[in-house]
Amino acid sequence: MYVELRSPNIHEPENIAAYNNTILNYRDTDFFLWAGGTEIMSRADFYPAVRGNMEIISLDKIEELHHFLRNDRYAEFGAMVSINEIAQAGKLVLPRILLDTINSTACRTVRERITIGGSLCTQRFKTSLASTLMILDAAVELRYMKKRMHSKWFQLSRIYDKNGALSIPEGALLSKVRIAIQQYDYQFFRTMGSPVRDPENALSMALVARFEQNSVSYARIIFTLPSRGFCYNRDLDNMITSLHLPVSISRYGQVEDFVLDFIKDNFKDIPHLQESRIRGAFHDMIKDMNEKVLSYTGAIERQQQDR
Ligand SMILES: Cc1cc2nc3c(=O)[nH]c(=O)nc-3n(C[C@H](O)[C@H](O)[C@H](O)COP(=O)(O)OP(=O)(O)OC[C@H]3O[C@@H](n4cnc5c(N)ncnc54)[C@H](O)[C@@H]3O)c2cc1C
Repeated sequence: MYVELRSPNIHEPENIAAYNNTILNYRDTDFFLWAGGTEIMSRADFYPAVRGNMEIISLDKIEELHHFLRNDRYAEFGAMVSINEIAQAGKLVLPRILLDTINSTACRTVRERITIGGSLCTQRFKTSLASTLMILDAAVELRYMKKRMHSKWFQLSRIYDKNGALSIPEGALLSKVRIAIQQYDYQFFRTMGSPVRDPENALSMALVARFEQNSVSYARIIFTLPSRGFCYNRDLDNMITSLHLPVSISRYGQVEDFVLDFIKDNFKDIPHLQESRIRGAFHDMIKDMNEKVLSYTGAIERQQQDR
């Protein structure tokens, strides 16, 4: 059977002003933004392009989307900075959990193509980078059309709806990401399965915490079920914040049941493999936290004995 193949129109604005003009000229047509292209090109129906009326706006040549800057309080990255560049530029200052999340995403060659903007705006599945940035309270700048072009900063969590779906104005450009430079007493990241090949079963979990003597004084925890959404709630944070360390076996059982019941209330019919992964990641985190606290208090006791 003969299928007509047409090439899409590709626009390559070189600055934000040219980008705004392109959007204004094509606002009534079906256009989409192209960043690293890693998610777009892995869509099952992307090739061959049977739709002839496609307008692709490549963001690659927009100089200011490749910039990044840093001061004592935060680092700010343009949307087209690759996640590899972020890991390299922020190696000494960014929260370790962010570097762990980046380094666990795909392989180095693909990480060089994946942009931070694309990671946050991918709609087909939720990325672990989005969830880690959410517990780090990252903010994003959006540029969108509403009679004229607007630009506004939002907390990252506000650009997703309660099901984790991207909820930004049609055709909006995510232009910058701002990440606070701060460290935590404890950071844990675990990812299992591939969000691209097996989003139904994949899972990632991220937690940051601060300790005060033998208890948790601050905690942010998030679970990412790539095909369903983020599980991120103050009740889960409070549950972790109530913990005394090391966590006893009986308390561990109660907390694990609470976490699982909470996730199951939010997402019905979780596959067995994904449920086992949630249990596994949570178990590893509590075990690791206990070990850290015990080795720390052991070191303090030894210091006191030596005096
Ligand atoms: C081999 C491979 C392995 C992977 N492994 C992992 C993994 O382990 N963990 C994980 O979380 N993910 C993984 N991914 C998914 C990866 O995170 C996404 O493909 C990536 O985040 C998309 O980024 P991109 O820059 O390529 O975006 P693109 O593919 O160019 O775009 C993605 C979507 O975002 C929109 N978009 C892009 N930039 C902007 C912007 N600035 N403003 C508004 N909208 C925008 C585009 O229109 C498109 O809809 C993997 C992907 C591949 C190919």
